[in-house]
Amino acid sequence: MGTFSPIFAILLSLLSLSQIAHAACKLIHKGKSSDLLLKGTLLTSAGAIHDTHVLVQSSKITYVGNGSNMPHRAALHAQVLECYDSVISPGFINTHEHIEYSTINPLPDIGERDNHRHDWRKGLRNHTLRQAEVNGTMANATMWGELRHIFSGTTSIIGGGMVSGLARNLDFVAGLEEGLVAPAAVWDTFPLEDVAGILRNGNCDYGLFPIDRETAGKYNRYLAHVSEGIDAEARNEFKCLSNSTFDTIPLPAGGGLSTDIIAPNLALVHALGLSELDFDLVAARGAMVVWSPRSNVFLYGKTLDVSYLLAAGITVALGTDWLPSGSATMAREAVCAVDVMKRSYNVTLEPKTLWEMATINAAKVAGLEMHVGSIEVGKVADIVVIGRGKEKDPFAQAVYAATENIELVVRGGKVLVAGPGLEELAEGDCELVLFGNVRKTVCVRSEIGVSFRDLRNNLGGVYPAVLPGVPKDEPTCVPTR
Ligand SMILES: [Zn+2]
Repeated sequence: MGTFSPIFAILLSLLSLSQIAHAACKLIHKGKSSDLLLKGTLLTSAGAIHDTHVLVQSSKITYVGNGSNMPHRAALHAQVLECYDSVISPGFINTHEHIEYSTINPLPDIGERDNHRHDWRKGLRNHTLRQAEVNGTMANATMWGELRHIFSGTTSIIGGGMVSGLARNLDFVAGLEEGLVAPAAVWDTFPLEDVAGILRNGNCDYGLFPIDRETAGKYNRYLAHVSEGIDAEARNEFKCLSNSTFDTIPLPAGGGLSTDIIAPNLALVHALGLSELDFDLVAARGAMVVWSPRSNVFLYGKTLDVSYLLAAGITVALGTDWLPSGSATMAREAVCAVDVMKRSYNVTLEPKTLWEMATINAAKVAGLEMHVGSIEVGKVADIVVIGRGKEKDPFAQAVYAATENIELVVRGGKVLVAGPGLEELAEGDCELVLFGNVRKTVCVRSEIGVSFRDLRNNLGGVYPAVLPGVPKDEPTCVPTR
């Protein structure tokens, strides 16, 4: 064994430093306007494009390219960010939330797996009742849930509840926020009006006023919970919504008939009970699917083989479902998705596929792909910048990102979260918030009328909105069947 020469030792330490120290996104020019010019690796469906310039003026994206032909006068006054180790992604779009359940802890795992949602919702067929209650006011819980998603890079949500500001609420006209116009998506938890826990097999005798073809056909997008379960009763729901001759005998008081709503404006939420033949019909009709693998696995022990849907050409979007049985963030949903597909079906989902499920596919599900879901000129500036973590693939860097690694969250050109070194981007009433070891600037008070710190103090000890890499008490994603 010889000894290292001092020069060799210095070279070695420099080399190892360069391997671990990645440059964070930094503000290199403080402009006079609040326009933003981002430079970094842009994620697109065509691939990751290095050294891309993205110009944001007021709420819109006005330039995307390599810097040539950029409107230089505008760029002159913009805040210029160099983010060469980071990726620039459209903000994530969560197509499935029940956002008011955001101040409660995930359900404990009692080892029980159900066959249909009514098993746990109503404690039917000898299953344990697992109903969760909204904790505190609906408005506070919704605000808290939206903060959790904003902090983790999600700028739009379809979640059945809304507050003004924070994330765009794509299922409320009033929640679309700047730059977006009606129609909003229509979101339905009980399209068959089976909220009371009605299970059927062989007929469609559910509630009195189930969805019908004419009504569903009027919606720009209709997102309906269908077949959340793995048994014949779950599949029966799809039969009642995909075949108008399946049940032609009405109930005396109303309802009881099957219908056919499978069309390009429909997104089936869960669709866990469908067969491959059913998905062939979904594909042939151009309908879409919202996939929530963690919640499926936790409640039912399995999720669907999404590779079959993708091969059939079905547009699939990711959604977290809800905090009690689902993922706390879109990144954790993506982590679960890739993991369960490997375990259950030996299929490797590519990071880019998952990233599309969280961005452009989700925008299509919402019917707002002209405005959100990608970084293109004319779209609203919903942007998340993600710093280098342990992932090498740029799409993995984005879609699996720990909340700590999110450097910038922008909705409609407005900076909501800015990482270290970007404090000067923050405008208005902002505050410093610790994300693990990372101190970020959070600007939400002008959105919701209360600071994050005050809201946190008011809520006192509820499930956190600032989460570590693996959130506390996260529901399992390990399939059991
Ligand atoms: Zn749901």
